[in-house]
Amino acid sequence: MKLIRVGLSEKEVPGVLLENGDRVNVAGFGEDFNERFFGSNGPERLRAWLAGQRDLPCFAPTERMGPPITRPSKIICVGLNYADHARESGVPLPPEPVIFFKATTAFCGPNDPLVIPRGSKKTDWEVELAFVIGHVARYVNESDALKHVAGYLLHNDYSEREWQLERGGQWVKGKSADTFAPLGPWLATPDEIANVQDLRLWLKVNGKMRQDSSTANMAFGVAHIISYLTQFMTLLPGDVISTGTPPGVGLGQKPPVYLNPGDVIELGVTSLGQQRQVARAAD
Ligand code: ZN
Repeated sequence: MKLIRVGLSEKEVPGVLLENGDRVNVAGFGEDFNERFFGSNGPERLRAWLAGQRDLPCFAPTERMGPPITRPSKIICVGLNYADHARESGVPLPPEPVIFFKATTAFCGPNDPLVIPRGSKKTDWEVELAFVIGHVARYVNESDALKHVAGYLLHNDYSEREWQLERGGQWVKGKSADTFAPLGPWLATPDEIANVQDLRLWLKVNGKMRQDSSTANMAFGVAHIISYLTQFMTLLPGDVISTGTPPGVGLGQKPPVYLNPGDVIELGVTSLGQQRQVARAAD
């Protein structure tokens, strides 16, 4: 099942993308895709409800895709999780996962404009596989970890490199501007994904392929990441975890290439759809 949310920002309505491409409105189910929904077997309940529905209304084709879940309690990202990306960043592959937070206000829809923040000179792209937690997770064993996943989705972990790396302190400063976390277009439940560690992920800027790799190349896989994080904190239903980017970011080009207003960024992950953002300057 592919969960979507459609409509104006902050007014999205939950829906399901059917195999035939129809985007059906499931407001009649009475729940949004939030912590309570995921924490109460929402996807299974929705699946059962859907099976009994006839003639659900469809969203108009022109209606905006929002992020496929409501704003989560946290967005946690893994840094330097592909050996080639660590190399292009000029640092060794870390012995255990590097993790950082991204402000939840960075959250936005998959095709919303990228707003280059005021004063930014080094806004960069990062195609990533992300996933959403389905059950409260504390001290989870790696062998049980994937049972805690509600689904998988595409994420562009936009990053302001100067603010991330040259302004002192934590990476969070360079990861958290508004529109720096486009998510979706859909959340795919785990049954849609044969092997999450064998998905192609790619990203183009102005039509030129910049990133093209596979989740097979991750240093730390999804199950390990969940187990690892839950040694430090509780993960709540609806939390978003992003698993790191492969090589080919702007910082890694020689010389580095960063985004400017008018640039078009397109990206995708197998089975998780595509995103398209057009960059513009902040107001
Ligand atoms: Zn990242």
